Amino acid sequence: GEYRRSGYDRGHMVPSGDRTANSRDNSLTFLMTNIFPQAPDNNRGPWKELEEYGRDLVYQQGIALYVIAGVYGDKGTVGKVTVPGRVWKVILVLDSPEDEVTRGTEVIAVDMPNSDRIESDWQAYRTTVDRIEVATGYDLLSDVPDGIQAAIESR
Ligand code: MN
Ligand code: MN
Repeated sequence: GEYRRSGYDRGHMVPSGDRTANSRDNSLTFLMTNIFPQAPDNNRGPWKELEEYGRDLVYQQGIALYVIAGVYGDKGTVGKVTVPGRVWKVILVLDSPEDEVTRGTEVIAVDMPNSDRIESDWQAYRTTVDRIEVATGYDLLSDVPDGIQAAIESR
């Protein structure tokens, strides 16, 4: 109701299409804790393009992705829910779920405006994990040894 009037999409942090192993996993992606007010052209543009890029990697190359996503900033509210100003995602590209993170591990980090004034190409929003850490105040990948974090978070 409130979402429909607001002009924002019900954006999924974890996309429903990434949790298709069973119906319980899939239904969890529709909980409101996984949903935020997302600008339609972001949700259906670069955010979706990056989701599809990741899914293609998994299905075509049989690799595993470790994905962390979040939001920060504040550009108003929908009901009692804050509309974030920015949406970000960090993806580690691994050979398998058991693969160890090394200095050579490929990292994809993006930080996009939660706005309809947005490029469709997600590559336009690539950044470093370090910059997302500064913006959010989080220490991402904190289980990874410090030397390896320093290496993969800065590029
Ligand atoms: Mn860092
Ligand atoms: Mn870190």
